[in-house]
Amino acid sequence: MKNLFAGIKDVYDFLKQSKSCVFIFDFDGTLSPLAKTPEMAFIPEETKTCLTLLKKFFPVAIVSGRDLEDVKQKVGIRGLIYAGSHGFDWEIEGKRSSIKIDPRTKKALKSAMEKIRKILPNYTGAFLEEKGYGFSVHFRLLKKIKEKLFLENLQRIKEEIEKEGYLNAFFGKKVLEFRPKVNFDKGTFTQYLINHFKTRNRIKPTAVYVGDDTTDEDAFSVLTEKDVSVYVGKKKKSKAVYFIANQEKVEDFICGFLKELGFYNL
Ligand SMILES: [Mg+2]
Repeated sequence: MKNLFAGIKDVYDFLKQSKSCVFIFDFDGTLSPLAKTPEMAFIPEETKTCLTLLKKFFPVAIVSGRDLEDVKQKVGIRGLIYAGSHGFDWEIEGKRSSIKIDPRTKKALKSAMEKIRKILPNYTGAFLEEKGYGFSVHFRLLKKIKEKLFLENLQRIKEEIEKEGYLNAFFGKKVLEFRPKVNFDKGTFTQYLINHFKTRNRIKPTAVYVGDDTTDEDAFSVLTEKDVSVYVGKKKKSKAVYFIANQEKVEDFICGFLKELGFYNL
């Protein structure tokens, strides 16, 4: 990876010469400083000002693992493109859309939730959260003494459900998340967005993608040498071409570009 600021003039020149650009940012740890809890994350006022100005010239998208409504509310800028749940659903120019789930998968989701709900009354504290694209079983509040038996039951149901072939399940921290077996990630959304503007403007836009997560690697991998991929942090292995040392520098990158475009009072 190359240090973005070492060759920043060339990058700005390249962007200025591009006939069409789209800017895509991850939220947590990219636009927002990393926070102790997801609720505490916020976007600094200066970053907000820069993004608001940037969107006057280019489409600006925020892609997050958060739910769509959550990330929209956290960023709070009207007229941006937002994608939630790692690209499962999105809003472009006020129009909502999402990955399509086929009827058989929908049925599988419903029957999987029924199976889980049947055992929940025996385990006070464990609960099911429905999401736009699937559901999660939370058991952080379950009494320690009940956990072993609960996990055995859960594991058995998980295997049963996965055998049917429509859903995948992943354990996280005291949570089991069920998701449809359909392909969506930040990469598929980024590709979708590029195609969206390519169709509209009859020219492939230069995509600028900035992110700090493992999930952002999916997006970096769909970009070409005619795009600008920027990893936030000092990780050694990333598919991004450039890196910037820390989150605060993301704002410098955007503001610097606006200055290049003639906004000297930033
Ligand atoms: Mg992040």
